[in-house]
Order: sequence, then structure tokens, then C-alpha cells
Amino acid sequence: MYIHKIKKTGNMKVDAFVLTDNISEISEAIEQLKNVASLPTIVKAAYAMPDIHWGYGFPIGGVAAFSNIISPGGVGFDINCGVRLLKTQIDYNDFKKYIENTIKELYDVIPVGVGATSKKFDKKSFKKIIEEGAKRAIEMGCGLSEDLEYIEDFGSISPASMEDISKTAYERGREELGTLGAGNHFIEIQKVEEIYDEKKANILGLYKNHIVIMIHTGSRGFGHQIATDYIKLMRNLHNDLPDKQLAYAYFDSDLGQKYYSAMNCAANYAFSNRQIITHYIRKVFSKFSKVEIVYDVAHNIAKVEKHDNQKLIVHRKGATRAFGPYHPDIPEKYKSIGQPVLIPGNMGTASYVMVGTNENFAFSSTAHGAGRVLGRRQALKKLNLNQVLSNLQKRGIIVKSKSKKTILEEAPDAYKEIDRVVEIVDKLNLSKKVAKLIPLGVIKG
Ligand code: 5GP
Ligand code: MN
Ligand code: MN
Repeated sequence: MYIHKIKKTGNMKVDAFVLTDNISEISEAIEQLKNVASLPTIVKAAYAMPDIHWGYGFPIGGVAAFSNIISPGGVGFDINCGVRLLKTQIDYNDFKKYIENTIKELYDVIPVGVGATSKKFDKKSFKKIIEEGAKRAIEMGCGLSEDLEYIEDFGSISPASMEDISKTAYERGREELGTLGAGNHFIEIQKVEEIYDEKKANILGLYKNHIVIMIHTGSRGFGHQIATDYIKLMRNLHNDLPDKQLAYAYFDSDLGQKYYSAMNCAANYAFSNRQIITHYIRKVFSKFSKVEIVYDVAHNIAKVEKHDNQKLIVHRKGATRAFGPYHPDIPEKYKSIGQPVLIPGNMGTASYVMVGTNENFAFSSTAHGAGRVLGRRQALKKLNLNQVLSNLQKRGIIVKSKSKKTILEEAPDAYKEIDRVVEIVDKLNLSKKVAKLIPLGVIKG
């Protein structure tokens, strides 16, 4: 009932599957998914998660695997945008009275908003970070070596060579490393509200009423510039595209390999960005508790993975990898329960922790969020700032943001109901619910 099959017609090379309980909501994005299904070397099918909505070329919430192409539009402009969840040993009742002040302190130490800059890294350090990822950020003093175990791919993806990025990307990237960004990006102090699977939650170190912190950010202007640069280079490679925005290169071509390397630089940058922000959060929380990483996972990335013994380039754009128990690429400690999946909802309701399964539908992928129902412009038009603020206040949620506009664009009503999305992926066994988190305080860009 949740799986809608779109049989291949016209130029489609494979079928498409849309996972949703309301197919009428998303017609534009479905046209995009059909275009994706028509790209060369696509394998098995094109998939859309329940949080599907319109995106540049490929829909957000889309998953597609190819034997020999790579497409920047299938990754998105915010390369390795992703989520990191941190756990503490603090109980909500002991922490309640400190929430407001803690949000203020975090806001003061973490650069937030459009154009926010951080201390500039020198060229040599920057090169190390983008080529080797989070371990270099840790060597530079931003974290603990044991953090790496709990980051997808240990926070480092290769090949990644600085030679493959433009000067503009370098300049934008260097200024913004260690900043949160604007809009949908956030740091949220949350409370573990409900546990659905006690055994798995214990292994993850999640306990009812404990305080956790969620970080959502990516590769900032650096990834955006890399996407822009390579889309330009690929734009006129193939003139039979159903949509210009689907520009791609053959993976084994020079340009394909260069984009792959540049994209990996941005992925390493994003892991490091979340690592540096973790470092700031630890500073603020040091008077209360130690802070450990539950997991860090990307939701905008293309990765080389083996599925059914075939090497594929799996594009997840607004979708989360969800490997099941005993997959070799998940942390030792989580082997028996599967890879943690972090699904933010919105700043007013809830977010979820799930774990991957061995279902292997959609190349072991699941949803990445609630997904928008209102575009940013629509949200500005339809929603009322005072109303939004007073609703959040009624629920006792503290919000700090650089911009009032952001609060409207990102208001809870701009997003689909997260419970619905999570219910669908849980019922379909793409990932299983472990815990529900509710927001206490949020910092938005
Ligand atoms: P993205 O914008 O990266 O595609 O989506 C990430 C998801 O984060 C969105 O689909 C939305 O469900 C969720 N989200 C956006 N803003 C917030 C926020 O302030 N707090 C929480 N918990 N989730 C959010
Ligand atoms: Mn992002
Ligand atoms: Mn994101």
C-alpha cells in the first residue's frame, strides 16, 4: 500500500518505485524520478523515499545506482549534507533550567548564518582536511581519536585530491570551515522522549529523558562551488538529456573521475565541519557531561558500493544509507543492530533514531527527513511569524536564529509530518525505529 510502482514507459530504462501514502502530493517530483530512470547505465530501478520533493534535476529523497555514470544533480549542491547525533549523560530534569543559557552559549561560539566565517585554516591544513577528512580535524585539536569509529567511513573518503577543485571553491571553503550555515541547517538540543527498542537503544547509549544534541550541516559554500563548477563542465556533454539539470559524466571518464575526487573533498570537508562543531559543543557542555558521538551519516552523496556483487555508483540525494546488521562498514559496537540512521523532523515536533536492516530495498537506503510540503517562498507567503513563534513557545522550545525569515521558511508547517515518513520506512522495513527525540532548544542559521 505504500509502494507505488511506475512501470517503465517512454525513455525510462528501468521501473521507478515511490514509497508514499499520498502519491498525489508529489507529481512534479515523480516526473523527475522518471527522468532519472531514463539515464544511461541505471541499475534495477529508481527509488523515491517518502520524504520525496522537487530538487535540482534529481528529486530530493531519491536513490539511483548506476554502473557507469556520476551526476552532480544526483548528489545535490550541499555535498555530504548530513546529520550527527551526540549523546550526553545528562538527565532532562537536571538540565531544564540550563537550556536557555546553553543555547545562548552555543550561539555565541558557533558561527551561524549566511556569510558567517570562521578562523581561516592555512592552505596546508585545509588540503589535509579535504583530502583526508575528520582525522585531520582531530589532529588539529578538534576531537578525540575514538570519534572516528562513529562517523560514516571513519570520516574520510578517497580518492580526494585538492587538484580537482577550483580556486573559488578553495577560497569559499577555507572561510566557512567550522560554520553551521543557514536555513535548514541547525543544532538542536533534544530529549530522548520515547524508546521503541530497548536493547538497540542501550547499545547506542540512548536512554529515556537523556539529553542529546543533533547537528545538521554539510559542506557549505565549498560543496556548492564544486557542484556548480562541475555542472558547468558537464552541461554540454550529452545533448539528449530529458532535463538539462541531469548533466552527468561517465564514471570511468576523466571528468567523471575528477568530479568524484572533488565531491569526496567536499564529503571530507563536511565530516570535518561537523567534527569542528562537535568540538565547540563539547566546550560548552564540558561543565555538565562528556559528549560522545552516536553516529554521523551523510544524506547527499554518491558512493561506490557493492550490491549483488556488482560495483555501483549509488546516488543518495536526500536519502540515508541504512546498512543492516553485520555489514562490514558499520562500527564494531553496532554490528548486531545495524547502522544508525538519523532522521530529523522539524524544530517543533520530533526527530528519530532508526537502524538499518538487511532488507536491501533501494540499495540499503531510507528517508532523510520529513521533506518539505511548502517551498521556501510559499512558506513565507502562507505562514505567520508570530503564530509560528507562539506555537514553539507554547511547547517550550527555545529558538535562536540569525534571521526571522529562516524561522518562517523552516517552520514546522513547512514540512511533512515526520511521524508519517518514519512509519512508512519502518513498516516497509527499510529501517527500524529505535528512539524518538523531541526538541528543547534549536539554533538555526
Ligand atoms: P534537507 O533540508 O537537508 O534536505 O533536510 C533535512 C531534514 O531536516 C528536513 O527534511 C526536515 O525534516 C528536517 N529539519 C529541517 N529543519 C529542522 C530543525 O530545525 N529541526 C529538526 N529536528 N529537523 C529539521
Ligand atoms: Mn544541507
Ligand atoms: Mn541536509
